[in-house]
Amino acid sequence: MKGFQRITIETDTNCDTGEFRRILRAILPAVNQETYSDTATALEEAITNVIYHAYPDEIGKFKVTMKVYPGNVIEVVVQDWGQGIENIEQARKPLFTSGNENRSGMGFTIMESFVDKVTVQSQPGKGTRVCLKNKFKEKLSYD
Ligand code: ATP
Ligand code: MG
Repeated sequence: MKGFQRITIETDTNCDTGEFRRILRAILPAVNQETYSDTATALEEAITNVIYHAYPDEIGKFKVTMKVYPGNVIEVVVQDWGQGIENIEQARKPLFTSGNENRSGMGFTIMESFVDKVTVQSQPGKGTRVCLKNKFKEKLSYD
């Protein structure tokens, strides 16, 4: 991958299932190539978290920014302006969830296992920023 790519997707419409699919469709052609598919798996967890946790009872906006740097590094940032996370260390622990029985508390653990680095910044009442950074192998032409 030569040069530098940047893609930004922003939504301020309802994050219902249809909207979620629309956003994923817009983003995933960029990240869903074989080389980026691990990052796409982590990204899906981060976006799901915005929909379920950042804005549990309301319509809220979020922004996804993707950058590809020389040296085969992809960085995806998911930012929201929702309720934020009180205790980030606790939130990142496997099996911790503040959600209902449909949540398993494994989202951050999945993100960590699919990309090299997960950075979480959050302020209660102000929002959350999750940065996923991954070095990827370029797919060889004879693969
Ligand atoms: P699962 O992802 O397995 O369905 P989960 O979403 O509860 O369950 P994680 O993705 O690991 O598990 O998130 C852990 C907790 O971190 C959540 O239960 C929630 O309390 C908090 N959290 C995560 N992302 C956000 C966010 N964007 N805004 C507010 N809280 C969040
Ligand atoms: Mg989750």
